[in-house]
Amino acid sequence: MIKSDYPNIQDVYDLMKKPPSASDKKRLEKAYNFAKQAHEGQKRANGDPYFYHAFEVAKNLADFGMDSTTIIAGFLHDTIEDTSVTEDEVDNQFGSEVLFLVNGVTKLGTLKYKGAERHVESLRKFFVAMAADSRVIIIKLGDRLHNLKTLGFIKDRPDKQKRIALESIEIHAPLANRLGMWKLKSEIEDLAFPFAYPDEYKQVQSLLKQKSHTTQKYLEQVYKSLRKDLAKQNIEVDKASYRIKGVYSLYKKLKKKDMDIDKIYDIVALRVIVPTVEDCYRVLGTVHSLWRPLPGRIKDFIAVPKPNGYQSIHTTIFTGNGGIAEIQIRTREMHQEAEYGIASHFAYKKKKYEKKINSSTQWIPELSDLQDSISNPDHFIENLRLDFFNKRIFVFTPNGDVIDLPEDSSAIDFAFSVHTDIGMHATAASINGKNSKLETKLKNGDIVRIETKKSAVPSAKWLEFVKTTLAKRQIKNYLGDNSLMNKFMNRFK
Ligand code: MN
Repeated sequence: MIKSDYPNIQDVYDLMKKPPSASDKKRLEKAYNFAKQAHEGQKRANGDPYFYHAFEVAKNLADFGMDSTTIIAGFLHDTIEDTSVTEDEVDNQFGSEVLFLVNGVTKLGTLKYKGAERHVESLRKFFVAMAADSRVIIIKLGDRLHNLKTLGFIKDRPDKQKRIALESIEIHAPLANRLGMWKLKSEIEDLAFPFAYPDEYKQVQSLLKQKSHTTQKYLEQVYKSLRKDLAKQNIEVDKASYRIKGVYSLYKKLKKKDMDIDKIYDIVALRVIVPTVEDCYRVLGTVHSLWRPLPGRIKDFIAVPKPNGYQSIHTTIFTGNGGIAEIQIRTREMHQEAEYGIASHFAYKKKKYEKKINSSTQWIPELSDLQDSISNPDHFIENLRLDFFNKRIFVFTPNGDVIDLPEDSSAIDFAFSVHTDIGMHATAASINGKNSKLETKLKNGDIVRIETKKSAVPSAKWLEFVKTTLAKRQIKNYLGDNSLMNKFMNRFK
């Protein structure tokens, strides 16, 4: 093969958010050559040299904003599993950190999604890896992204296409979402959607085309007027763009709204990116002075960020001529983070990233804990899906701490999430200052205080309305230890 057939490593450098140093370049180039040689002679399904895949994965990681160590592991991610390369070689050539990452990805490699049967062991591995080092998962996501892009090439294996597509929607997309990598999440979903649900895909695609075209036209008018007004006030706009909702996320929303596309307002959103937080509020003020906002749809995630760090202001306005559309306002930094999530912190500010990991991934230790305590794999996966893959609500303690709960959680779930002792001795709740029963379902944004009494104990009735695994387990433990039968039996011990 002629050398020029191979991709240029400069493409990777160009995508890196922080330009690589001379020594980074040397290591990256070494990884490039190492992977190229290791995969020599191997081919992908479409006939391309296998190395192209390793290269594309490295490119994805650069694009996510990952550091050079992670990109190097991306180049090497299939070498230990699929070539004669040994762990020692990787260790000697690239060091233990790279070896750790490559091994992490290799161990995840056997994941096979089996629909209803669900491959529990592999999924478990995923989460163990995630708890250990989220870079492993991010490499896996970069790998999956390229595999999805080339999924069309295995036409002769429709069963395999469908399995990979479903697995991506059910496992990889939620993982990306969990890491705050929304752009990647919707990319994965939209690439997998046509293979997972071909008929529904066609239907939604055609709805989206018609509707997004008219909405975007409204928004272009809106932006023209807005820009004029902002210029008068000397507010500088860094960038404005139209974000078209992902096909798959539109499909999910349509299912909730009786497939009525006119009930969905954020098919196209205008994104306005400005230099400072103050500018964000000035833009919001200007928008509302020009167009009437829809009540109840102004969301200030700058003042109150989502627990995973998402910051932005969203508002929905009547654009005139019958249109309704969403406007999102944020700073450049917030935008970077919204697109790339956790990954955006790898390249820039290591410190901030570490802090972020602690606050935005509090559920990870909870997950390992969950895993240890549940011996039955079927339960494990059920719990995982119920707790971690469903829609979440964010509820506040009186001090403003955020508690992340599954939808329809009750005040008692909240109590157990704050502290076991609070759950065990809860008597009543105060929700947004109003006295409420413990079974009250919580809503996004509620501020909850729990009243406790030392002598109070959990009741079996609580099991009827708690939603979190944590609360269920604690209540059951308590009831188990204290059931009448047990007390009776204990007398004879
Ligand atoms: Mn791979």
